Amino acid sequence: MSGASGAVSGNGTVVRCDVCPRGCALAPGAMGACRARANVGGSVRPTGYGRITSLAVDPVEKKPLARWRPGSTVLSLGGYGCNLHCPWCQNHTISQVGETGVGWREVSPEELVTLARRLHVEDTRMVGIAYTYNEPFVCWEFLRDAGTLAHEAGLANVLVSAGCVNEHVIHEVAPLLDAANIDLKSARPETYRSLGGDLGRVQATIELLAAEPSCHLEVTTLVVPGVNDTPAEMDELAAWLADVDSGIVLHVSRFFPNWRKRDVGPTPVSVVYDLAEFARKHLRWVYTGNC
Ligand code: SF4
Ligand code: SF4
Repeated sequence: MSGASGAVSGNGTVVRCDVCPRGCALAPGAMGACRARANVGGSVRPTGYGRITSLAVDPVEKKPLARWRPGSTVLSLGGYGCNLHCPWCQNHTISQVGETGVGWREVSPEELVTLARRLHVEDTRMVGIAYTYNEPFVCWEFLRDAGTLAHEAGLANVLVSAGCVNEHVIHEVAPLLDAANIDLKSARPETYRSLGGDLGRVQATIELLAAEPSCHLEVTTLVVPGVNDTPAEMDELAAWLADVDSGIVLHVSRFFPNWRKRDVGPTPVSVVYDLAEFARKHLRWVYTGNC
């Protein structure tokens, strides 16, 4: 494990994590809200580093990436933990648990890249590694270490993230990314606050990755009934994205009841299509998903 971050407070026992806007103040032994970082011996450590819960070769279209190396696949891995707590999380069995809540096995960056390289030799459509399923940034040091080795081995790095992370972390990993899909869950700060996130930080992540020459960027908005399903909000969201870059790809995706969000049914397909049309007033590339 490597790459601890955080600052020691005045009394020398509580440390504050500086990875995301939650800024968890961690007493000795305490775990952060993401359940993947903790105060270990007076510094913040990524305790979920290299602890893999899921590993699969997926088509890039499933990430989703619609306009990056179509027809290729990526070795996709997830760990556990997330700094947001979306009640509809499809991956809550890994995103909303810590080290005791799910089975995991430790994989080093070297082992991961060796496996990816072998898969690439067997099938050249397999082009790299995707950091996905839970929130990769809660153990961003693994992304940095594996991503560096992957590039040295001629493999690509793909990030799938909610993007709610502080700027210094983005600067560390952005040059390693070949493609990213970032959630933009809402145009409303209050919606992000209800999930434990910060709209401004997500927007800053999107702006930074859009400006990164080596990184192809796509964005996903899951349309949840009663949360973000109005034309006015989609108009605002797509207009903001277009101000960043009207060539950014947007996926407008359909919600299905899940985990703690079962008080509404699936998003009507017609609503997804209508909102995608609103988004197309601003953006060149808009796709619908889960319809
Ligand atoms: S990354 Fe985790 S420990 Fe660090 S501030 Fe965010 S939620 Fe807290
Ligand atoms: S940000 Fe993604 S992984 Fe985290 S809780 Fe929300 S939907 Fe789940």
